[in-house]
Amino acid sequence: MKDKSFTVELKCLFCDCPLEGDTEKEYVSGDMLECQNCHELNDYDALIDVAAEEGKELVADYAQKEIEKMLKKAFKKK
Ligand SMILES: [Zn+2]
Repeated sequence: MKDKSFTVELKCLFCDCPLEGDTEKEYVSGDMLECQNCHELNDYDALIDVAAEEGKELVADYAQKEIEKMLKKAFKKK
């Protein structure tokens, strides 16, 4: 399987707008990210939890499509 990177947006937990973190800064557990839209502070750990759930769905979806492709190829050969 080819390498594929998945990008999951971090979204504000309050207004659902995509968070634009400071790219120069590496966020770590316990940090608070201020939303540029509503200015609420988002807990980094909570954001990662949400992003991880979304990521899992993306990967599962991708894996399913790859399996379908492989099956189709397998049947074509016959
Ligand atoms: Zn917000």
